[in-house]
Amino acid sequence: MFTSTAGLTLPSTVTGSWPRPRWFDTCMWGRPLDTCMMDIRFREKLQDALAVVISDQERAGLDVLTNGDYHLDEDMAGRSWHHYPLQRWAGLEGDHMQAADKRSEWLRYSPGTLLYEIYTGWRWPWVTDKIEHRPLDYAKLWRMAQAKSAKPVRFGTCCSQVMSLFLDIHTPKYKDMRQVIWDLAEAMNKELLALRDAGCKCIQIEEPCLHFMSNTFGSDHEKVRFLLEAFNREVQGLDDVEIWVHTCWGNPNMQRVREDTSYAKSMQMYMEECKGDIWTVEMRDRNLQDIELFDRFKDSKKKVCIGTVSHRSLQADRPEDVADILRKALKHIPAERLIASSDCGFGRQGCNREIAFFKATAIAQGCNIIRKELGLPTTYIPATNAQLQTDVV
Ligand SMILES: [Zn+2]
Repeated sequence: MFTSTAGLTLPSTVTGSWPRPRWFDTCMWGRPLDTCMMDIRFREKLQDALAVVISDQERAGLDVLTNGDYHLDEDMAGRSWHHYPLQRWAGLEGDHMQAADKRSEWLRYSPGTLLYEIYTGWRWPWVTDKIEHRPLDYAKLWRMAQAKSAKPVRFGTCCSQVMSLFLDIHTPKYKDMRQVIWDLAEAMNKELLALRDAGCKCIQIEEPCLHFMSNTFGSDHEKVRFLLEAFNREVQGLDDVEIWVHTCWGNPNMQRVREDTSYAKSMQMYMEECKGDIWTVEMRDRNLQDIELFDRFKDSKKKVCIGTVSHRSLQADRPEDVADILRKALKHIPAERLIASSDCGFGRQGCNREIAFFKATAIAQGCNIIRKELGLPTTYIPATNAQLQTDVV
């Protein structure tokens, strides 16, 4: 159900993660949020950091805000994005290097490359018992952010099936990885229902494996059909929430993890078979590859959120660049179903706050350029107010 984007034409947003302020130098490292929040230094820093990310995104002029993923640890290449739930759910233990023969074929890289360094540096829990939900405190984390703005704050989480790529089974309770994936999906569903019950009406599920899997096996492969089923189980019962399904082609330390990035084989699944209201696709870094394939879905009710700035380059994309991409996208996706975002988040190591800020405001400004061209009302973007620049000459 459309909530945060209902009634908005060409709304602007960013994917989710945002570079931390330098002084926000404390992390949860597996502890429960309530425990951390009794430490007055953590409490102050997290609350203030959330105020900063909300303020930055409001000043940038975005229509739908995010909490910056500031509950995630500041760890190597953004491991905490997957690891935060795994550290907290029952049945998972330890920090182990995944055996090379068990590693997904997608995650094999040559020594001497950054991706090799990342995927051999990351450690993962083993599955040692039945996986069961334990609270992730998403509701409280969302409340703390939403309390700081009248604009909608979307809450994003790693999709549970992508976590399974890193898990090895060390218990007779699981015969195969599918049972693990299913239990992960059910655990995440419990957390998402609690988040919805707390009042969050805009949730983003990040990186189901369907586009990666379809590219390798084809969309009819039984593995792919199973993952589709598991994804729909993960978001079951959330029909009154605006569900965004985020897909990109990698973001550990800003990196692309595969070179074949075609959405051709997964498009029908994401547009027609997956539950959800909005599908986000990486477009800027891929020079709009596959955009013409959206012609087939002209009558779809699903909205499409396209990446208009790259999370992989440190060049701050300009408003004109964003407008140019939107003009091209509008030839295939009608304005009332188009949303502008970044290709992925800026906070998984490697990008600083100023670059993230100016990329974000370029998205908002690019949307205004196109709104003006279409004769639609524009929005106020504080970042562009000449009298409110930091250093007025
Ligand atoms: Zn992404």
